[in-house]
Amino acid sequence: MEISALVDFLQNYDGPKIRLMEVCGSHTHAIAKHGIRDLLSANIELLSGPGCPVCVTPTAYIDKLIEICLRENTTVATFGDLLRVPGSKESLNEAKGRGGRVAMVYSPMDVLGLAKENPDMNYVFAAVGFETTAPVYTLLLDQVQAMGLENVQVLTALKTMPGAISYLCENGAQIDGFIAPGHVCAITGADYFAGLAEKYQIPFAVSGFGDRELVIAIYGLAQMVINKEHVVKNYYTSVVDSGQNDIVVSQFNKYYEKADVAWRGMGIIPGSGLVLKDEFKKYDAGSIGLDQDNKRNKACRCGEILMGKCKPSDCPLFGKVCTPMHPEGACMVSEEGSCFNAYR
Ligand code: SF4
Repeated sequence: MEISALVDFLQNYDGPKIRLMEVCGSHTHAIAKHGIRDLLSANIELLSGPGCPVCVTPTAYIDKLIEICLRENTTVATFGDLLRVPGSKESLNEAKGRGGRVAMVYSPMDVLGLAKENPDMNYVFAAVGFETTAPVYTLLLDQVQAMGLENVQVLTALKTMPGAISYLCENGAQIDGFIAPGHVCAITGADYFAGLAEKYQIPFAVSGFGDRELVIAIYGLAQMVINKEHVVKNYYTSVVDSGQNDIVVSQFNKYYEKADVAWRGMGIIPGSGLVLKDEFKKYDAGSIGLDQDNKRNKACRCGEILMGKCKPSDCPLFGKVCTPMHPEGACMVSEEGSCFNAYR
């Protein structure tokens, strides 16, 4: 079928309402950038789920980074996004303003040079992310060991997607189909989601990030919903295989084990996270038990937005008190956040 015919279908669909959800921050960003929502009929709702790593990190994790950056001879190294995420009282940026040591880096590997040049300074890397970014932190730890560095640790907030999707399906999110995260599937394979499709009788479409790729995947997903096909279809075959990347997964298994971890607004989800195994605990700066989620602004509705229970515009703070320049919640900080993209 021509792409114009797919667009035509998506624009003019007038059947029963279909609720689709993407669970990948890069999809959230790409859908906003390409104006995909504007193509959809009012009967096809496209929601943004818990796929932005910064957005799902509970406030206790930010509070811990702040406590660490205020220690003597200790620097927190992080990607830029985390700097402005509010903890229970303040952000890392605000802590930096009162003397905290925070270094913004573009790659976890940047920490190696810093640690080597400054042996009297301890560096803690803020290792947040999903199946996609978790392997990069294992490469960092490989290098730390190879270089014999004793002054590098990580504070992990690593999550895996199936636990969150199960949580949504079991807690009334009423989603008819998921756009499976393309980057995660590049590591895990498309079949990673087959068990969920079967268990919850819900289809998944693995999608790339271009405008045409998204249109094709959303069309395919809508068709699966209409035809009651509860399977995983891969529309990103240029990158994603059906099976996992064995090399990366063996690296995962060397360093990490599954753990129960907290997601912002959703609480602790059993088996939905990765933590360092006991033999690598000396590299962990205290990642276990960072479960508290005490919002600085009690009116923030990030948790409900991540679960598809409301939209950014339903939050009373949206665009008034909370803007990308002055974020009150994590979803307004990152380019992958629902509120940021809705505002933009
Ligand atoms: Fe939270 Fe701001 Fe989004 Fe409201 S608009 S839910 S305060 S991030």
